Amino acid sequence: MRDRSDTLYSPQEALPPDERAAWQLGRLREVLRETRAPAALERAREAGLLDGPCTWERLRTVPVLRKEDLPALQAGRWPLGGWASWERVRRLFRSPGPIFEPEGPGPDYWGCAPVLHAAGFRAGDVVLNSFSYHLTPAAWMVEGGLAVLGAVVIPGGVGNTEIQARAAFELGATGYAGTPSFLAALLERADELRIPLRFEVALVSAEPLPPALRERFEARGIRTQQAYGTADVGMVAYECPHKQGMHLLDRCLVELLDPYTREPVRLGEVGEVVVTLLDPTYPLLRLATGDLSALWEDPCPCGRTAPRLQGVLGRVAEAVKVRGVFLYPAQLRAVASRHPEVRRYQFLVRRSADRDELIARLEAAGPQELAERFAQTVREVTGLRAQVELVPDGTLEDGAPVLVDERRWG
Ligand SMILES: [Zn+2]
Repeated sequence: MRDRSDTLYSPQEALPPDERAAWQLGRLREVLRETRAPAALERAREAGLLDGPCTWERLRTVPVLRKEDLPALQAGRWPLGGWASWERVRRLFRSPGPIFEPEGPGPDYWGCAPVLHAAGFRAGDVVLNSFSYHLTPAAWMVEGGLAVLGAVVIPGGVGNTEIQARAAFELGATGYAGTPSFLAALLERADELRIPLRFEVALVSAEPLPPALRERFEARGIRTQQAYGTADVGMVAYECPHKQGMHLLDRCLVELLDPYTREPVRLGEVGEVVVTLLDPTYPLLRLATGDLSALWEDPCPCGRTAPRLQGVLGRVAEAVKVRGVFLYPAQLRAVASRHPEVRRYQFLVRRSADRDELIARLEAAGPQELAERFAQTVREVTGLRAQVELVPDGTLEDGAPVLVDERRWG
């Protein structure tokens, strides 16, 4: 067995937070000096980022770039909406939208090596890479990181479950990279065929990893960690072995903003992940990803000092407007997580006498005053008053939606 004990990939991961902030802003300045991406330079000039030192105050005056606007921007201006520095582009990808993404020069352009290292991948591992190699960049992100670590790749791609399972066995694969659902399918097929796969580590991404699925993988001896990234910028955050959120990578400046007011949310509150990529190839300034998350800054026992992102808690598009206030399922999940005595819950939005009503229905063991405490938490997190009803066990179905809009218009 390889030594997979947790070590830092680079001393940079343990920088004191203020030194990291200074390093990142200094890096932004270098990137803006190096890049020839016209749209980035225009925005940076307007914000005063080209004249003086780069500061958060100046960066925050740059208008947010919405991911959903990229198809139109890219169709209207070459190259890639004016955000790419064309002489640096080495590969071009196409994601649904269509949104095109460039890969720049150099090893590990997408920043995956520290991610794989934290997940226990080491030199000499043989890794089945089951992300797609076609048109989208996920497989290439993992490729870059594994090459830098000195691991050996089986470029499995998507599909061909039986062939991939047999190849992974015959080639002695010790690592897996891909979606959690494909790993589950692969293990199931291997069991049917009596192929004893010997994965020791897995890096999964691009989908939620339900805790029960992680437990199943880990019960088979597969250490499983997650990463978060986007096709536009590459890796953004990754789990360490403590698996309590994902440490931010230094290659991006990350903000969590209220999607409607564009103000930063308070620590621990749900906001939209907005990313500035510190790379001259595609220096997107303030890309609003549409993903909702929350950030924790309390110290992690692993020694990495970067704040941790709480995974993807939802998408901005899932919001429902109640009494003029946007409400996200992710906020409601955050409310419920503060009341472990609540076994099942559902929020309803109804219209009564021309007024929106927010109703929370709870299956809970708690006393009646739980309803009051729950309503208080709803108020704190969402700013909305809710009517809380305790309902008998079995009223709510497993897997029912967290938020149901029962209003009918017209
Ligand atoms: Zn950690």
